[in-house]
Amino acid sequence: MVNRVGKWARGLRQRFQSYDGSNGNAEATKPLELLERPPPELPYLNGSAGASRTSLTDKLADNASSSGMARSFLFTCLPAEIRRQILMEAFGGRTVHMDLRIGSLMKPMAERAPITFSPNKLPHGGLGAELGSIPLFSEEALLAAVDARILDSEERKKHPLWQWWSCVCHRTMPDPGHVAPLTEDECCKGRSMYCFMYPGTKPGKCLLGCMGWLLTCRQAYAEGIDVLYGTNTIFIGRKKLLDALLPTERPTENDTPRHILPMAHLARLRKLAVVWNWSLGLGVGEYRLNEVRRQQHHENERGRMGRQLARLADPAMFPRLQHITFGFGDTLYQWPAEPDGRIDEIEDVLLRPFGEMVAAFRASGRKVNTVVELPKNVFEPLYANSERTGGIIGEPLSYSIQRFWWAFEKEEDEVETKGEGVGGVGGVGFWVQTGIKSHIRHNPNGNPYILGVASAS
Ligand SMILES: [Zn+2]
Ligand SMILES: [Zn+2]
Repeated sequence: MVNRVGKWARGLRQRFQSYDGSNGNAEATKPLELLERPPPELPYLNGSAGASRTSLTDKLADNASSSGMARSFLFTCLPAEIRRQILMEAFGGRTVHMDLRIGSLMKPMAERAPITFSPNKLPHGGLGAELGSIPLFSEEALLAAVDARILDSEERKKHPLWQWWSCVCHRTMPDPGHVAPLTEDECCKGRSMYCFMYPGTKPGKCLLGCMGWLLTCRQAYAEGIDVLYGTNTIFIGRKKLLDALLPTERPTENDTPRHILPMAHLARLRKLAVVWNWSLGLGVGEYRLNEVRRQQHHENERGRMGRQLARLADPAMFPRLQHITFGFGDTLYQWPAEPDGRIDEIEDVLLRPFGEMVAAFRASGRKVNTVVELPKNVFEPLYANSERTGGIIGEPLSYSIQRFWWAFEKEEDEVETKGEGVGGVGGVGFWVQTGIKSHIRHNPNGNPYILGVASAS
C-alpha cells in the first residue's frame, strides 16, 4: 500500500510538473518526448475580440438602469460607492497572481470527493496549485489533488492545453509593512509561508472567488471587473504570458494583432508586479563559449528587454499604470567577473533600459512609480557605489530591504521631496531595491558557479 501511494505521489508530481516549468525555463528537466513536441498555442483571443479598449459593459457601469438585475435592490438602494467598497473587501486591493499553465483539468466541485483532512494541510491555492517538484505536501493532499483532476486521455496528452490560473498572493504577512522580494514568491506552486496568518479557511482564502459575482449580470460584471483589474496588483511571473502581453515583434501589415487579454482590461490596470526572467550573460557553464557568441547573446537579450520595456511604456498598452515592480531572479548576474568591478557596465546594460522606460512614461505625461529588485550579489555593490558617490539612499523598507534611487536624468532643481515626483524623488529615475539572496559565486579565476554545485575552473 505504501509503495502504491508513493508511486501515485511520484506520478502526480510528474504530472504537475508544468510543461512550461516554473518560469518558462525548465527545458533541462523535461522528458525527451515533451521536448520533441511543439509547444501548444497560447489561448489568444479570437480575431479582434481583444483589441477594443472599451468593454460592452463599460457604459453600464455609469448607467445602471437598463437590465432587470440593474433594477434590483442591490443596484437601486445601495449607492455606487458603497457597492464598490463591498467589492473592494471581497476581491480588491490585494496582490493577485495571473498565470497560464499546462496541466490536467480540474473536475467541477460537485464531482470532487469531500476533503476529509484538515484544510490547513492543503497547499496554498488548494488542489489546483502546481505541486510539481516540491516534496512538501502531505500524501493525503497529493491524493486529493489526483482525485480532483480529470485524468488526461492519451489524445489529450498529445495535445495539452493552456489554462488560466489565479490566486491571491500570500508571500507576505497581512501586515502592510512586511516586504518580501518578488522572486521569493512560490504561490503558484502552492507554497506560501503565510496562509495561516490570513483570516478564513483554505483553500477559499487563497483564491480570489470573484467569478460568481462577475457572472451574475452585466452590471455586476461592469463594476466588478474594474475593481479586479483597477485595484489589485497583478503579479505576472510566467515568461510566456509576459511575452504574449509584450510581443517584441511588430506585426506586419497582413497580420492581425493577437491579444492574450482584452485591451479593455489592460487599460484598467494600475499596479503591476513582474518577475523578469533575464540574465546578464550566458548560463553558468556556458561562459567559456567564444566571445563573439557571448557578445551576440548579450546584444540580443538587451535588445529584447529594451523592446519589451518600450512596449510596456507605450500609453496604448497600460494607460492608467501607476506603479510597477520588476524582480530579477538569482541567476541575473553571470558574467565571468565579480560584479564589484563591472558596476558601470551593469548600470549601462541593465539599469539604463529601465531609465529609458521611465523617461518614456514621463514623455507621455505619466508618473509611474518604478521599482527594480536585484539579487543581493548585484544590489550590494550598486548600493555601496551609490553611497560612495553621494546618491540618494531611501529609508530601508525593512531590516533586510534597502533601496537607492537610480537617476536616469537629473533635473536642474532636483530635490528630494518625499511624496512628490516619481517615487518621492525629483528627476527621472526609479528605486533599486534588495531582492532575492543570490547563490551565484565567483571562483578565484573569476568564473561564476552556483553555490553547492561544483565550481568550474
Ligand atoms: Zn504570491
Ligand atoms: Zn494561501
